[in-house]
Amino acid sequence: MNETNNGRKGKLSSNSRIYIVYLAFCIAVLIFSSVLMSRLISSNTSSQINNILSLMSEKVNTSFEMMTNYIKQASDMLSARSIDSWEQCYDELRRSTADMPYESIGLIAPDGTVYGTAGEKLDLERRGFARAARRSRGIYITEPYRSSVTGANMITMTAPVYQNGERAGSVFISYYLETVQNLAYTNILSEKTSVVLMNPFSGNFVTCSSDGTSPPGTWSNIRLTKASIEPHRGYSYDHWIEKMRSKSPENIINFKQDGINYTQAFVKIDGMENWNIVIRIPMTELSDTMQLFTLGIITTAAILVLATLLVAALVYTKELRRSIDLQTLSDHDPLTKVMNRRAFETRLDTMFLDKSQLGRCTFIFFDIDYFKDVNDTYGHDAGDTVLYKTAQILSNAFEGTGIVARIGGDEFNVFVYKPLDASDIDNIMAQIRVQLKELHLDGGRLLPITFSSGLAIYPHDASELAELKKCADTALYWVKDSGRNDHAWYMDTKEAAKNKANNKKE
Ligand code: GH3
Ligand code: MG
Repeated sequence: MNETNNGRKGKLSSNSRIYIVYLAFCIAVLIFSSVLMSRLISSNTSSQINNILSLMSEKVNTSFEMMTNYIKQASDMLSARSIDSWEQCYDELRRSTADMPYESIGLIAPDGTVYGTAGEKLDLERRGFARAARRSRGIYITEPYRSSVTGANMITMTAPVYQNGERAGSVFISYYLETVQNLAYTNILSEKTSVVLMNPFSGNFVTCSSDGTSPPGTWSNIRLTKASIEPHRGYSYDHWIEKMRSKSPENIINFKQDGINYTQAFVKIDGMENWNIVIRIPMTELSDTMQLFTLGIITTAAILVLATLLVAALVYTKELRRSIDLQTLSDHDPLTKVMNRRAFETRLDTMFLDKSQLGRCTFIFFDIDYFKDVNDTYGHDAGDTVLYKTAQILSNAFEGTGIVARIGGDEFNVFVYKPLDASDIDNIMAQIRVQLKELHLDGGRLLPITFSSGLAIYPHDASELAELKKCADTALYWVKDSGRNDHAWYMDTKEAAKNKANNKKE
């Protein structure tokens, strides 16, 4: 029995090992694919944001080129004519360019007088743009500024005007910053994307298209917003601003702001010195599909792992059941279903290892009388039925009090481990006798059976198992010799044998 148990354990544990290895493999694949996915997501994020940025910068730069062309044309046109009065020239210029796609056009006379709208006059002089324009040899573009008169966000471009080959003054064109904002806007951006124009030197930025956090046209400074930014993996915001100043190709920063993870990147605007387009996109927007994909992978893998566990559990239970069945088969006699000789002996050996647990016990040897005749007269199948039914009768008779086993042929052993009195057992034997006498074959045919048996008591007759068996066997043979169809207790047969011997002597 021990051997079988060990074999079963060995088999189960080898299978369990396979499942554990498989499970570990599944988990490793899961971790590997998650890491791979997160790498893919981050590389996909940076390539996506750079695609958007290059599209936007191309758009803005092309538009700046167009704006530059307007100012160049104006400069060329004015340089080609002679200007007697700058004020008169300004009136003519304004009239002739009324339907141009810019807000206004004006002049800065050689003496620094600004001819333009009231706001331009004030802002160009006060902010030093007029001076800078006069000093500039080529096209000069101002910083975005808020008009002192209208409050609108503006930028102004200036170009030199020549008279008789000499630098004489400048022409300027003003645009609403909104025009530039619109240039930076592209409808491929989602509502959650924010686009700003940013100057890394002053730290000023103006919102072009908003994600709802601040409306378009809002001015701010990075010093004000920096505090709420938690950069990812210790990469500082200042470091990123430094990269923008040095026009570095490392243009991406990931950070968390107000609980949202963002990816933000810059691209330089060619026409506007020091100004950059900065785009900020929530990471979820960029990686939604990838995240869904990852989620898909994780779900699939989790299902896989669960399914493996389920299958493993099913296989384990099945195997356990099969192994129990095998155990039952190996311990039981296939014909009568009672315990076989080997299992019976093992069980009794185990019981006799600790005799302190044993009380008064009875060992019974059974042998069907003239069983050969049953086979010869009614056939082997009828003999099998008799054996099966005898086993059932014995099992029922000793249920809960003894262990029944088929020892071989028509021999059965019963070990009564409950301390029943001899009279109780005599009664049981009598009942068995009655039942066997009324035994019917499967077709209903009556086939009365008688049996002989010998009984020995532990520890009265013998304290060792082998000896106890021998006593019961002796008693059985005494019954057989005395004419069968009876049972005898070893102690009585011993007494009878003694008396018989004494009688002979006399
Ligand atoms: P006794 O009264 O002395 O016990 O005589 P018996 O005819 O019963 O003889 P014994 O116990 O020596 O013989 C047992 C017979 O049981 C011998 C064999 O042919 C028969 N036998 C053994 N195993 C099986 C079996 O599995 N099925 C059947 N039908 N017969 C079996
Ligand atoms: Mg027999």
